[in-house]
Amino acid sequence: MARIVMKFGGTSVADLDRIHTVARHVKREVDAGNEVAVVVSAMSGKTNELVGWVQGMPKVTGAGSPFYDAREYDSVVASGEQVTSGLLAIALQSMGVNARSWQGWQIPIRTDNAHGAARILDIPGDDIVRRMGEGQVAVVAGFQGIGPDNRIATLGRGGSDTSAVAIAAAVQADRCDIYTDVDGVYTTDPRIEPKARRLRQIAFEEMLELASLGAKVLQVRSVELAMVHKVRMFVRSSFEDPDAPGMGDPVNPPGTLICDEEEIVEQEVVTGIAYAKDEAQISLRRVADRPGVSAAIFGPLAEERINVDMIVQNISEDGSKTDMTFTVPSGDADKAIKVLEGVKDQVGFDVIQHESGLVKVSVIGIGMRSHAGVAASAFRALADKGINIKAITTSEIKISILIDGAYAELAVRTLHSVYGLDKT
Ligand code: ASP
Ligand code: MG
Repeated sequence: MARIVMKFGGTSVADLDRIHTVARHVKREVDAGNEVAVVVSAMSGKTNELVGWVQGMPKVTGAGSPFYDAREYDSVVASGEQVTSGLLAIALQSMGVNARSWQGWQIPIRTDNAHGAARILDIPGDDIVRRMGEGQVAVVAGFQGIGPDNRIATLGRGGSDTSAVAIAAAVQADRCDIYTDVDGVYTTDPRIEPKARRLRQIAFEEMLELASLGAKVLQVRSVELAMVHKVRMFVRSSFEDPDAPGMGDPVNPPGTLICDEEEIVEQEVVTGIAYAKDEAQISLRRVADRPGVSAAIFGPLAEERINVDMIVQNISEDGSKTDMTFTVPSGDADKAIKVLEGVKDQVGFDVIQHESGLVKVSVIGIGMRSHAGVAASAFRALADKGINIKAITTSEIKISILIDGAYAELAVRTLHSVYGLDKT
């Protein structure tokens, strides 16, 4: 017997048929003797529709710019999850499973006051644990909680993954199963490399890199939370027949386990290749090489909420001038350049150069910490294909390479094969 939190995303609960299938997945785990809590998203497309409704309302003109009340935004957009939690509870009851729905405020999932992007502060798990012990399934509305102002607060788009992990931590679940429309986490994007393989296991840190680098399986915050609380996450498909052989396997069901690195049996040197499209590179040439220059460049960009990624600074030749290169999302490039031109005198640079439509390809693996030559193999392989490298950054477990957008797919495939990821 295990205690499991099962989370179902929007596509998994897209219509009544799919909700029925979800109920069968839940029933399978209940019938196997597990204690189960479920977290649901809104039916797919629903949250977008609700957000659109809010945006379609007239705005109040206050302090300079028009706005709407974020607390009312939350009360509207949180309703999608309320609907699915009720529908799933009904579906479960119709199959003879003892189940009830829970809204965030009923548990209560306590959040801070940042309406629209709230953070979870506390979840008392006792009541749910007690009821699970009595065989009742809690069907919890994801994405929502209650703020210190006693009003509904939502966690930011995609937030029900985070709800699920937080509930799993609160009830000390053995596993948090994230059911979605893919059957696991792959060594790279299978649309680019058909030889991509599903990973059996991946470490939290690696998943964080993959998730934030464009492999959009999970909300990044949910993985951070899982890492902190050591909640084992398991990514699997809700589209498979709930009663197919192996689906209820307590140890090895089909999917990818995201866990502490100590739990990983066979650690490969490289686990996956990620890519992020639409990067723009900005270079400031002949920047004065003195204390405070980086702050003068990146401070104003941060104030404008421009997300800077790779940063490369050269050691200057004679201690007087250097070059600074960094990347931003292509959509932010013009804004970033404007900001920089505005601070040109404080920073003291000669010219700004920029290029859009670039791609960042990243090689990820915790095995890199203890293996030499991982970066060199990537550079060699790309060189053999005639791919020019524009910038490189590394961390302990990642090498990121900036290249021309036209070579993205070739680079991903090349790196995928150079580390043997296409071999079983
Ligand atoms: N329904 C919410 C959204 O679409 C939360 C989620 O799906 O995780 O953002
Ligand atoms: Mg979602």
